[in-house]
Amino acid sequence: MEKISLIIPCFNEQEMIPIFFETVEHVKKSLKNITFEYIFIDDGSSDNTLSELVTLQNKNRNFVHFYSFSRNFGKEAALYCGLQKSSGDYVAVMDVDLQDPPEQLVFMLNGIQREGFDIVGTRRVSRKGEPPIRSFFSSLFYKLINRISDTEMVPGVRDYRLMTRQVVDAIITVDEYNRFSKGIFSWVGFKTKYLEYENHDRVAGETSWSFWKLFSYSLDGIVNFSDAPLAIASFTGIFSFIISLLGIIFIILRKLIVGGSVNGWASLVTLVLFIGGIQLFCLGIVGKYIGNLYLESKNRPKYIVKEEK
Ligand code: UDP
Ligand code: MG
Repeated sequence: MEKISLIIPCFNEQEMIPIFFETVEHVKKSLKNITFEYIFIDDGSSDNTLSELVTLQNKNRNFVHFYSFSRNFGKEAALYCGLQKSSGDYVAVMDVDLQDPPEQLVFMLNGIQREGFDIVGTRRVSRKGEPPIRSFFSSLFYKLINRISDTEMVPGVRDYRLMTRQVVDAIITVDEYNRFSKGIFSWVGFKTKYLEYENHDRVAGETSWSFWKLFSYSLDGIVNFSDAPLAIASFTGIFSFIISLLGIIFIILRKLIVGGSVNGWASLVTLVLFIGGIQLFCLGIVGKYIGNLYLESKNRPKYIVKEEK
């Protein structure tokens, strides 16, 4: 019999764990000839998530496992841990808040077994229940990243997906520290199909993503999958160099033809400030890449497991 490993990252999700488990157990009944393995990752929760997981594991020793981190390492690290620990022929990545409808597993498995896809992912076609400003920046992000990166990012795509063992092994070989999973999932390639569904609200608990967290996450996405900002920095440099060259020629010619004058110190100061600003901006871009390089070169573990079962 073939096995699906479900990878479920949890961060302060005490109310959701029993509800999630019940719901998936229900869906499981409609899948014939397949066994399940649950791999919960407790990402350093400060509530009772861990004790909920211990209780659940005690009741279902054969097919429920959990790994509890020593602190909050982020969802990306949790996903990586889950992928490494999974043993199923197929692996699904799923949020615990039921925003990823478990019923879709049936269609996903169909896509892999019958239609020959390697990955069946999901994308949201609506964003109802989400603040408009968030949707706006999100669509801006996808437009930008698809323009400047070779890795295709499908708008509205979720982490929720079912993959074959081969794909999971490929993803594990991408062992960078700064993980932008949406990009990595797409970077490894393979035949992918996307199922579409309407946005669901969280069943319980609260999202742990603030606007700024999302903003810096999208910056990470850009820095990780494109070097276009570096090119922008050099182009701005070249552009301001050409402009100042023209300015110098103009000043020399004016001196030769009209004669000297001390007019224009105000515009001079403005120019100095302007160029200084551009320099700092470009330095910031370069700094972001060097910062990533620095983190990468330290080669620290992506997560530390404190307790597992
Ligand atoms: N999550 C995690 N570590 C974190 C933040 C979130 O493991 O630092 C988990 C969380 O428990 C949930 C999933 O990642 O299962 C998605 O989080 P959330 O629902 O807050 O994000 P959203 O659905 O709003 O994008
Ligand atoms: Mg959610």
